[in-house]
Amino acid sequence: MPIKNKVYNANIDTINHLGYGVCRIDGMVCFVKGGVTGDFLEVKVIKVNKNYCIGKVENIITASSHRSEQSCPVYKRCGGCCFRHISYAHELELKKSFVEAEFKKARLDTKVNDVISAGNITRYRNKAQYPVNFENKIGFYAEKTHDVCENADCSLQPEIFGHITNVIKAYLDKYNIKGYNEETGEGLLRHVYIRQGKVTGEIQVCLVINGNTLPRSDELVNELKKIKNIVSICININTKNTNVILGEKYVTLFGKEYIEDELCGFRFRISPASFYQINHDCAELLYNKVYELVTKAKCDRVTDLYCGTGTIGLCVAGRLKNCKLTGVEIVPEAIENAKTNAKINGIENAEFICADSTDTQNNVLKNSDVVILDPPRKGITQELAKKITESGVENIVYVSCSPDTLARDIKQFAELGYKCEEATPFDMFPRTSHIENVVRLYRK
Ligand code: SAH
Repeated sequence: MPIKNKVYNANIDTINHLGYGVCRIDGMVCFVKGGVTGDFLEVKVIKVNKNYCIGKVENIITASSHRSEQSCPVYKRCGGCCFRHISYAHELELKKSFVEAEFKKARLDTKVNDVISAGNITRYRNKAQYPVNFENKIGFYAEKTHDVCENADCSLQPEIFGHITNVIKAYLDKYNIKGYNEETGEGLLRHVYIRQGKVTGEIQVCLVINGNTLPRSDELVNELKKIKNIVSICININTKNTNVILGEKYVTLFGKEYIEDELCGFRFRISPASFYQINHDCAELLYNKVYELVTKAKCDRVTDLYCGTGTIGLCVAGRLKNCKLTGVEIVPEAIENAKTNAKINGIENAEFICADSTDTQNNVLKNSDVVILDPPRKGITQELAKKITESGVENIVYVSCSPDTLARDIKQFAELGYKCEEATPFDMFPRTSHIENVVRLYRK
């Protein structure tokens, strides 16, 4: 049993999905923040639990060749990029192994392919939601806390986002407008939400406020308007005592109510309430894979559940003659966008329904040659899996941002008679712990 505060020599065997080095100390698993596969370290044990302990790097005796330079000034505090201290090649190997481990846990024999990456490991995000605290710090929550770690220029975001937050901070300070205090519920500005279209460059700035109006908003709009590409400025009203970032109501202060972007050669309109893939280049690779899997079998009728603004379904249907598309999505603004997006792209044979995917009408499913699923992290309901099966759907293409719920759902579909031979991971979120996957499930 390891002893707290004692220093041990240890080899780091691997890194877990939270970015901690994993080793064994006196027979017990130890998680070491900053430890890298192949390191030989002096590890100080700082906490001993029942089945594992936590250690910290006291000294690097021999450094692993997987180590890489950390370029970010707030890397340690912020915690958003848990793989910034290792080579990207090793990160991709690890991510593949995480997916394999989830499948193994669920006793699936689905093969995991090598992780596909668009190669862009900095500036790949097109969206940021920066919390603002009562000291008017704008940044990200430091790891495991709600302390705002100020970092105007996060290297995962477009550089311009840092400039925009600086302009907003100057405005807050100038007019003595306060950021939000989560404890007291006082203060006005809760979050700065920015999104930029990768192809179009269009930027939308949305200020999430704990109130109904933004004082001196004209002054802020005038300053922001000077920044190239800002086509939309709005406020979102969220006066609830909640961790949910966005409230229901948006008010446009300047320009359009949305931005547009292009994916796989199609144009998309995106409202601030609508989901949009955060890594444009990787999303295109992912959507191409979905197209490849959808077209492996008959696909005259495609149903896209959790369709957001219709992007996946339209990228499929737009390339197929005689394909009828039905999209289902729970957010009304996203469904409005999806309908417009079908029109903008001249795709006539598409309909979009605002509903919970689990409530998709049986006749829609019965007529589907293939169902595309792209749920949030919690995956799909048992009820939906049963409904799809009972409707006789032979082919499913499942896009997932959470390997554990994907494994659970594949298992469930396996019990209902579907095969899933392989999974392809996509590194939609380089340097962070998240990984996306696409699989095809089929039955005869
Ligand atoms: N396929 C889209 C969106 C994927 S994100 C794209 O690639 O852009 C998941 C989407 O599921 C979000 O748009 C979210 O609003 C929606 N959603 C969440 N729960 C849902 C439910 N129960 N029924 C239908 N849609 C849901």
